[in-house]
Amino acid sequence: MIDTHSHIYLEEFDADRADVVRRAREAGIEHIVLPNVDAGSVPRMLALEAEYPGYCHAAIGLHPTSVNQAGMEELGWVHAALERRKWIAVGEIGLDFYWDQSFRREQEQVFRQQIEWAIEYDLPVIIHTRSSMRETLSVLSDYRGEHVRGVFHCFSGTLEDAESIIGYGGFKLGIGGAITFKNSKTPCVLRQIALEHLVLETDAPYLAPVPFRGKRNESAYAYYTALFLSELYGCAVSEVQTITTRSAKEIFALD
Ligand SMILES: [Zn+2]
Repeated sequence: MIDTHSHIYLEEFDADRADVVRRAREAGIEHIVLPNVDAGSVPRMLALEAEYPGYCHAAIGLHPTSVNQAGMEELGWVHAALERRKWIAVGEIGLDFYWDQSFRREQEQVFRQQIEWAIEYDLPVIIHTRSSMRETLSVLSDYRGEHVRGVFHCFSGTLEDAESIIGYGGFKLGIGGAITFKNSKTPCVLRQIALEHLVLETDAPYLAPVPFRGKRNESAYAYYTALFLSELYGCAVSEVQTITTRSAKEIFALD
């Protein structure tokens, strides 16, 4: 299994991070992708990556909820980081109109710029979209044919959204603990989507799957999402693990 979205570099894990990584390995997690949040999270993320080289992989980008009036001016450090070294992906980037719509315009500019850098540096993107699926797909449609690819993290859209993403080409749907919640509509959607289009993620420390709902999430819990998917698709959990791992390796160019 690959946890394609994990923030275990955050302070929630300061007390027991080594145990968290050990449990991930024991649960069969082969790689952990670390999406960045903002300039402040970079040092922690890089420290974790340095501690587990070849296992924890840092992405670079500015999260949409960290975009403010500074807009594009805040992106200088992202570009400098892209120039400096190789990253697993550009992320997490996207649009979030759920909490705050005051910086819609800035969010879109910042999103577009980061997609353009992903194209330039030939990297996949990790997309965060909340209350903004239509707008996100509309931005992406301007880059058709430019080999933009990656993951729609924490996918919770409609069947039509899923089909648009798959139809675009090069994108997988990131599925995490939220799918195990009683009120989730995503299982109904996924029944009509082949397993080949999904990758596992946790979004740790957030969105822990049942039976840990409400608790701190960690990479090892990706197993419970795989288990849920195996029941949904009526296949062995090993099949979910094999197929999602293959997809994640393809997207993030991992061995
Ligand atoms: Zn995230």
